[in-house]
Amino acid sequence: MPDSSEPLVQDALEAFRARASAWIAENFPSTLRGKAAEALGRIDAEDVQGDLLAWRQAMARVGWGAPTWPAAYGGGGLSPAEARVLAKEMAKAGAFNPMVQGMGITMLGPTILDYGTEAQKQTHIPPIVRGEVRWCVGYSEPNAGSDLASLQMRAEDKGDHWLINGQKIWTSGADLSDWCGALVRTDPSAPKHKGISFLLVNMKQKGVETRPIKLISGASPFCETFFTDAVAPKDALLGELNKGWDVGKRLLQHERASQTGASAPGGGRGRPLGEIARSYGAADAVPGIMDEINRNAMDARAHALTLERAMAEAKGASGPGHTPSILKNSATQVAQGRAELHLAAMGVHGRGWEGEPFTAAEREAVSGWLFGKAMSIYGGSAEIQNNIISKRILGLPEKTQGGE
Ligand SMILES: Cc1cc2nc3c(=O)[nH]c(=O)nc-3n(C[C@H](O)[C@H](O)[C@H](O)COP(=O)(O)OP(=O)(O)OC[C@H]3O[C@@H](n4cnc5c(N)ncnc54)[C@H](O)[C@@H]3O)c2cc1C
Repeated sequence: MPDSSEPLVQDALEAFRARASAWIAENFPSTLRGKAAEALGRIDAEDVQGDLLAWRQAMARVGWGAPTWPAAYGGGGLSPAEARVLAKEMAKAGAFNPMVQGMGITMLGPTILDYGTEAQKQTHIPPIVRGEVRWCVGYSEPNAGSDLASLQMRAEDKGDHWLINGQKIWTSGADLSDWCGALVRTDPSAPKHKGISFLLVNMKQKGVETRPIKLISGASPFCETFFTDAVAPKDALLGELNKGWDVGKRLLQHERASQTGASAPGGGRGRPLGEIARSYGAADAVPGIMDEINRNAMDARAHALTLERAMAEAKGASGPGHTPSILKNSATQVAQGRAELHLAAMGVHGRGWEGEPFTAAEREAVSGWLFGKAMSIYGGSAEIQNNIISKRILGLPEKTQGGE
């Protein structure tokens, strides 16, 4: 029997589309059209002025920076379907989410909503929605990356507060962040997964020092982060004591869910690769390049459709699950493949690093190609996603060769 409620849902979505489109036309400053990357860059929460500030304040009033979060904490209170409509209308208008970058909207906010006490939600969620604070994630340590549960940074219970000592590494945006969601060891005598807790740590204190790490691409997006007698109040624990591993895994699922778009690293995002290959003469000079470009375009389209289907299927689910591991890997393959083809399409101009013979777009393509290498490392490497897919989705045994 046809579902007679379907047309009603469609009507409501169309009404929302009209409302969203009118609101964007009225509030989005035309000076910012299509300038997301330039406007946001590496700004911190207090470094926002002019039209960008006005746009951020307008978005904060309706909560659309976090469109599906509960209105009770300042979120938009929209359904996932309405949020997708909003995203499409924003893209059509060349608009973007103006909330400060960092990991508040994508990772910490959703995890605090999943595990936080009422007081933690009231304290931390509204400033994230308003774009007033920046969060970082303190997981990796010099001897704990893929094997994250080996982490050693310690938090000792001092009665009325936690005393934190140790080092994190690769902490994205730590130098600009106000807060850090950190995994810490709270019971060194317990088996490694069972002695870990999740702490919400204020970064603006004298016990925290950040040292930015420079990458080959020229960017410096992450830091070594040192905690020396840093403190956190007792109620900074997110979730239960010594059960931080579960909280930490949930945050990683949210992280992967946010990394499933296949936007290509490097320049030329808006310009079709085939056109770039023709303009540099590679379409004729490099055998097979047009076939590879078409294959990458088909993979990108298949990825986008699969992503849309997965989002629709996840409508009723309570959390992001393991599907993002598949989508993160396919997004990475599409984006890294596109970046490789972009350089090949430019011939010798795809070797530009600095100086006059290369245009800004050529240099950007090269540094973006290099930065794109990080996609298969951060958020859990491609091999670790494959392990999750084989164990948690396909149910394959732990050992496939030579094991008992
Ligand atoms: C740009 C960028 C931003 C980052 N931001 C943050 C951040 O904000 N916060 C944070 O805490 N961390 C961050 N990281 C760190 C990231 O999470 C780690 O680099 C990642 O988890 C891998 O850990 P590792 O570097 O120690 O490599 P290792 O764990 O030493 O891995 C080395 C290689 O061995 C492979 N490998 C390891 N174990 C297995 C296994 N069991 N099976 C198969 N292969 C395996 C890996 O896939 C990899 O190829 C960031 C990294 C990058 C590149």
